[in-house]
Amino acid sequence: MHTLLGLKCVSCGREFTPDEIDYTCPACGPLTGTREVLYDYRAISKLLTRKTLAQNREFSHWRYLPLLPVLQPEKIQPLSVGWTPLYRSPQLENQWGLERVWIKDDSRNPTASLKDRASSVAVVKALEKGVGTVTAASTGNAASSWSAFTALAGLKTAIFVPQNAPRPKIAQLLLFGATVLKVNGNYDDAFDLCCRAAEKWGWYNRSTAINPYLGEGKKTAALEICEQLNWEAPDYVFVSVGDGCIFQGMWKGFKEFYQLGLIERLPKMIGVQAQGSAPLVRAWESRAERCEPLQPRTIADSISVGVPRDQVKALKAARESGGRFTAVSDEEILSAISLLARSAGVFAEPAGAAALAGLKKLAAQGACGRQDRVVVVVTGHGLKDIDGVMQAVSRQPLQVENDLEDVAEKIPSFFHC
Ligand SMILES: [Zn+2]
Repeated sequence: MHTLLGLKCVSCGREFTPDEIDYTCPACGPLTGTREVLYDYRAISKLLTRKTLAQNREFSHWRYLPLLPVLQPEKIQPLSVGWTPLYRSPQLENQWGLERVWIKDDSRNPTASLKDRASSVAVVKALEKGVGTVTAASTGNAASSWSAFTALAGLKTAIFVPQNAPRPKIAQLLLFGATVLKVNGNYDDAFDLCCRAAEKWGWYNRSTAINPYLGEGKKTAALEICEQLNWEAPDYVFVSVGDGCIFQGMWKGFKEFYQLGLIERLPKMIGVQAQGSAPLVRAWESRAERCEPLQPRTIADSISVGVPRDQVKALKAARESGGRFTAVSDEEILSAISLLARSAGVFAEPAGAAALAGLKKLAAQGACGRQDRVVVVVTGHGLKDIDGVMQAVSRQPLQVENDLEDVAEKIPSFFHC
């Protein structure tokens, strides 16, 4: 039994049946016509309760299957996605005088980023459609994740990446067997070319936001946080933001659990962008309905986006939740990578640490109260962009001879109080 009812355009409100069209509302266009997935919440409320979840031994994000748009569960691929750890971090709490800070470590997914939550759902939708060829445009993580799942499903995969995609992400793509098309341009150029190819040749497109099912997978990070916090939702959730799909998806997850009566209040969603790539922050601050396109420039490649594809839903999520968008500099991001590693033992890529940089900034401004419960989402692993994270390191290895005296000479501080 499935619970998917249909889809609704976020701008004009037109409703669609699940098999009517694949991507955005034709009347509103690709940026404003993103669609929201609708479910039979009455049926879900009988299937997903605190009791059924307590008894559920499926420790992956498929434990929330009734809240996911899957029609044929037998098409789910075997990689274990989600149910990632939520770590309390006393060291971070002490730094900023906050009582409760948790890190949701989503680098612990099969391909080391939160994007696996979306790809695992999208591959089911591609198989349900019976397509043979699929595509995606990506700064790297979404595509490397997509390639793992489409390899398992035996789908021919064409990936469009920007010129500056980090080598480890390209390595993942190639190893999973995808055909990689490196576009002479940035992510926004790759996105447009991918959409044109998909339309012309009928490939199934996993590119973010225009495919309405991706946010559904991503929302499971929010569902897990509620369950891991014993049904007491946090006050603030900090998420790094490029296109805005994780941000809006997680907000939808919290709202759905609230609607189902599983949590009693909702968090404020704080979207953190890199200063050189902050169209949502600009739109937020000028109270605009739409983002002005810009040329992104940041070390955090995963959120280096000039035209946020999920901007309508993302701006709505910040508004509805009483949250906001904020920008951090590349220096603040680099310092957050180091802080996260040393204070919480979590190794994040630059975009993965941007959310923590956002918390540091807002905590210093006194925006979070001492007793507020704060969750910071780490979206991708540090090994994804080793050149980027090495910029956060000020020290180099010390060269020593195979000789203890030489060792002692090189590290005098180990022997003096
Ligand atoms: Zn519409």
